[in-house]
Amino acid sequence: MGRDDSAEIARQHVIDPEICIRCNTCEETCPIKAVTHDSRNYVVDFNICRGCGDCIAPCPTGAIDNWRQVVKAKAYTLEEQFSWDSLPPQEELAGAADAALPDDVERLTQEARAGQGGTAPAPWSAETPRVNLYSLQKPAIATVTANFKLTDEGSSSDIRHIILDFGNTAFPVLEGQSIGVIPPGTDANGKPHHIRLYSVASPRDGEKPNHNNLSLTVKRVTENHNGQSIKGPASNYLCDLKKGDQVKIVGPYGSSFLMPNHPGSSLLMICTGTGSAPMRAMTEYRRRHMAQKEGGALMLFFGARRPGELPYFGPLTKLPKDFIDVNFAFSREPGKPKTYVQDMIRARAADVARFLKDDNCYIYICGLKGMEDGVKVAFREVCDGHGMNWDALQPELLAKGRFHVETY
Ligand SMILES: Cc1cc2nc3c(=O)[nH]c(=O)nc-3n(C[C@H](O)[C@H](O)[C@H](O)COP(=O)(O)OP(=O)(O)OC[C@H]3O[C@@H](n4cnc5c(N)ncnc54)[C@H](O)[C@@H]3O)c2cc1C
Repeated sequence: MGRDDSAEIARQHVIDPEICIRCNTCEETCPIKAVTHDSRNYVVDFNICRGCGDCIAPCPTGAIDNWRQVVKAKAYTLEEQFSWDSLPPQEELAGAADAALPDDVERLTQEARAGQGGTAPAPWSAETPRVNLYSLQKPAIATVTANFKLTDEGSSSDIRHIILDFGNTAFPVLEGQSIGVIPPGTDANGKPHHIRLYSVASPRDGEKPNHNNLSLTVKRVTENHNGQSIKGPASNYLCDLKKGDQVKIVGPYGSSFLMPNHPGSSLLMICTGTGSAPMRAMTEYRRRHMAQKEGGALMLFFGARRPGELPYFGPLTKLPKDFIDVNFAFSREPGKPKTYVQDMIRARAADVARFLKDDNCYIYICGLKGMEDGVKVAFREVCDGHGMNWDALQPELLAKGRFHVETY
């Protein structure tokens, strides 16, 4: 279902009149004269501003670094902004979130959650997500600003960090949400390709703080789950993108695999390969915004064949141990026994049990389908050894929005 033009959402740059000291720096800096003023307020003309951000750093107070998502046809006029004593609150944008999800996305989302054992609500303190703002008929256009290989040059696995910039287009996401990509061209039957989903790997305020961009962690698929050679259309298209290329993006999607925001809430994250994308987003949000004592504990179990095939391996090893407890599992390290994430969960059983018992701990599992069963068996064993019953606990975790699985 497409949206009509009048419902198109945009990102509007605004200035906080309560903080602004009227120093004129923004008006002097703006290269396209989008900033103007009267005797009351400095304001940004929505019809001129291109969101370049040149004015942000020079502003001495930060009053300039404010944005609202608006229905494009109803963006705040200059007259409205001149009359403000304070910024208006972000309005709930009706309509977009209620539109039906594309069939592909419904199906893919249900398959990805199959291992969860039912429907889990979002954590009670999660921010309200925006979903389905951009459709196949009206995709958002993003520009590639970076595409680099995360895995070792010698490794057979090609996993990439891709940064997409949305320019002046509002594309609000929360950690744990996915976006949809439409590969160009047609499939073997001459039909347009269906949507593929990719988890957002950056926090809600952008890959770079306060930039209208996001990142993805994409693995080039060269064989299917049975080991047969194939060239996955969407992943190869994304991995081959060059800086400056434009990509059609739909979504965002996902309204339950979201992080809690209340002080003291903890995250137990278990992932393999590109399943690290949402974990990176959540960890980075916590690192940027929540002092450790506010945020609660973070524990990560992260599996790959070898260290060289583990996305974000280097940065993860540099995070302070008292910020995040990282446990790597490598299944093909020469000369070492095969270790999987479930083995590491067993090795840390006492700590995992503490997390499972804690009502403020939220559990996230993401990666290839094959990981689910082993992780659940390990949880069952942890429960058996620590006075809990997994069969009783799992539905309780689900009902409380504490257990989230996304595998593909
Ligand atoms: C909610 C959700 C989030 C996702 N997030 C990510 C993400 O962050 N990064 C990412 O790279 N992919 C992610 N995927 C998988 C992605 O949507 C595509 O399925 C994948 O990129 C393959 O698409 P393709 O067009 O290249 O190949 P397709 O023709 O669609 O698939 C080819 C074959 O490869 C299998 N396959 C899919 N993914 C993988 C994989 N990672 N490794 C090996 N085989 C695979 C498929 O099951 C199929 O058998 C996600 C999927 C879902 C449902």
